[in-house]
Amino acid sequence: MASRECPNCAVVIEDSSTACPICKYEFAQRQALPWKPVAIILLVVLLIPVVIQLNRMFGR
Ligand SMILES: [Zn+2]
Repeated sequence: MASRECPNCAVVIEDSSTACPICKYEFAQRQALPWKPVAIILLVVLLIPVVIQLNRMFGR
């Protein structure tokens, strides 16, 4: 089981805890990176010049 240190009172608590049992410090919830929309946007942005290039090459 992973553990982490409370930034408020420096006590080591379980990683799954959302608040420190000693000082009631509330940890910020870990947010998963929204990598899927970011990846889709990146793909579209990267594909646009490719599509333009292909149109120039084949779209006569
Ligand atoms: Zn604490």
